[in-house]
Amino acid sequence: MNFDFTEEQELFRKRLREGIERVIKPGYMERWPHDEFNYAVLKDLKELDLLGFAVPEEYGGQGYSLSAVETGIILEEMGRCDQSYTTIWGGLNNCCEMLMALCDDKELLDEWIPALCAGEKFVGYGFVEPGTGTDLSNIQTRGIKDGDCWIINGAKASVSFCNVDAHIVAVRTNEQKGSRGVTLFLIPDDLEGVEHFIYTDFGLKQIGRGDLAFKNVRVPERYMLGAEGQGFKNIMHIFDHGRPGIALQCIGAAESVMEECYEYCKQREVFGQPLSKYEAISFGLAEHQTKLDAAKLLAYKAMWLRDQNRWNAKEAGQAKFFGCEAAFDAIWFATRCFGHLGYTTDYPALNKLADTIGFAWGDGSWEACKMVAIREIAGPEFLPYERRNKDVSYKVMSGFQKV
Ligand SMILES: Cc1cc2nc3c(=O)[nH]c(=O)nc-3n(C[C@H](O)[C@H](O)[C@H](O)COP(=O)(O)OP(=O)(O)OC[C@H]3O[C@@H](n4cnc5c(N)ncnc54)[C@H](O)[C@@H]3O)c2cc1C
Repeated sequence: MNFDFTEEQELFRKRLREGIERVIKPGYMERWPHDEFNYAVLKDLKELDLLGFAVPEEYGGQGYSLSAVETGIILEEMGRCDQSYTTIWGGLNNCCEMLMALCDDKELLDEWIPALCAGEKFVGYGFVEPGTGTDLSNIQTRGIKDGDCWIINGAKASVSFCNVDAHIVAVRTNEQKGSRGVTLFLIPDDLEGVEHFIYTDFGLKQIGRGDLAFKNVRVPERYMLGAEGQGFKNIMHIFDHGRPGIALQCIGAAESVMEECYEYCKQREVFGQPLSKYEAISFGLAEHQTKLDAAKLLAYKAMWLRDQNRWNAKEAGQAKFFGCEAAFDAIWFATRCFGHLGYTTDYPALNKLADTIGFAWGDGSWEACKMVAIREIAGPEFLPYERRNKDVSYKVMSGFQKV
């Protein structure tokens, strides 16, 4: 067993931290209150050479084969400085990966991928709906075939990157087939009938979350991603990929707050001694750091399994709820150690707490992740619902399902 990152990965992390601390860290508090998707983020990510990492060079990418563990390193490092940036980078990475894996139409790839790699365009994803929420297999947004187009009607809720250039959208294309009747489409937002409603959020403000509505939107058949009926499986695949990364970005945020807290506790004196001397403080910090360290191991294990092409749904689900909760608890404890100063905008701890809270739901709620974990640990009898398609075994998937 070897718990070390490779020398290359350590060097990668070191360079990344230097760049992120130079470009992203300084403006965090100034940017934080602004509730809109910020295209300037993409310029910064480009300056850091972080766009189109895993995209082939012929599409304007860097053609680097980024492992899941390396993706985790990027998310953890960026999470230390700004979780809106991290979420935007992670979302873009997922969308590029989905488009490259699921789209066969060279013209469409030529139109979108180089622009995504250049930071000129952005694509989000809309899966969750106002009426069905966590129950993703019950998607109600409808697509009806009409010649070489699909006419799409419905709504998506809580879409990060709501007001951007296009979305990968889950659409019901078959009424009878349950989760096998869900298909993914790339829907450009300038098509007639696409509407946006942006929220005012409590944190992660620059991801610009909101609702999307589709009113008789005509989407050409060639915008279908993967085969008809494969959408649900591909969404689950992207979750198993994304969830440990979300945990790592929250852990990164918590670690940055904890580090600041250690320094503060060493110098702040009350009752004639530094705070660090009181066990109520030092034991609390030890406990929270231990949970963060354990959560990090779990998250990197989930990433590592993915790199071995092994099934990681259990570890991905566990990493998400355990990691985000450990991060939340650690940041809240550290904030209290700062005393009243923790409640001022001189310390970014509460902003980081607000950002972290978003991942109690984002990319699947903690409860949804626990459902996946217990399904894997003890079997489908522990699910609160009857599986609609009992013959579907997600374990056979080692990648996106195209056909
Ligand atoms: C910051 C942020 C970003 C997001 N980005 C996106 C995005 O880009 N695209 C997208 O499609 N969605 C996105 N979401 C939506 C997110 O995936 C959903 O919020 C989540 O799936 C839960 O759905 P819901 O909010 O409708 O809650 P509901 O399904 O209504 O659930 C309400 C509560 O009950 C719990 N619950 C539900 N079912 C059960 C059960 N069977 N047993 C126990 N508890 C249960 C849930 O965990 C939740 O806490 C985002 C959310 C946030 C907060």
